[in-house]
Amino acid sequence: MSSATPHQPLTIGVLALQGAYDAHANVLTALGATPRLVRTPEQLSGLDGLIMPGGESTTMLKSLERGGFFEALAAFVAEKPTFGTCAGAILLAKDVANSPQKCLGALDISVERNAYGRQNESAILSSETALPGAPLEMVFIRAPRISRVGAGVETLAKRGDDPVLVRSGKLLAATFHPELSGDERVHSLFLQMVEESLQT
Ligand code: GLN
Repeated sequence: MSSATPHQPLTIGVLALQGAYDAHANVLTALGATPRLVRTPEQLSGLDGLIMPGGESTTMLKSLERGGFFEALAAFVAEKPTFGTCAGAILLAKDVANSPQKCLGALDISVERNAYGRQNESAILSSETALPGAPLEMVFIRAPRISRVGAGVETLAKRGDDPVLVRSGKLLAATFHPELSGDERVHSLFLQMVEESLQT
């Protein structure tokens, strides 16, 4: 438990259809929140917020097509704080290129999947960030590129000219994997957003 960030006991769902959900659950636990793995639409009820992890967005979409899960998720993200990392950011976007695919359309960004080229499939970079503290380590794995941010979308970190950590209202998206860096600042920001949403 982080002593610097005294969070309320928040219950945060982690979409666990596929991909890197366990590492997110571990960071949430370290920050004093209660993670709950979400594998059915019913498990969205009662959550204070949700993390959609990295993985393969196409595979996640296949599972979401069953039993009204996509529609339940769309209703959830329209209302509650949601943090999408990598594939999760692709799911949150307004439109997706390479190839075009279904998305929730909740966050006003355009993304291009697998945009950093074969030679650059994975990269660990460090960048200045709007978050307090040292430059942020960013682990990119077959990352999407945010090619457009709408009005009202705030960029919190960049890779070159490309936004890689963005926030709009209750929604947060990263094209990298903050759960793999041992730096809790991005998750901590998300938990602050969840707390704020409970106070309003
Ligand atoms: N390339 C994956 C996709 O398009 C995203 C990769 C990731 O989540 N690390 O869904």
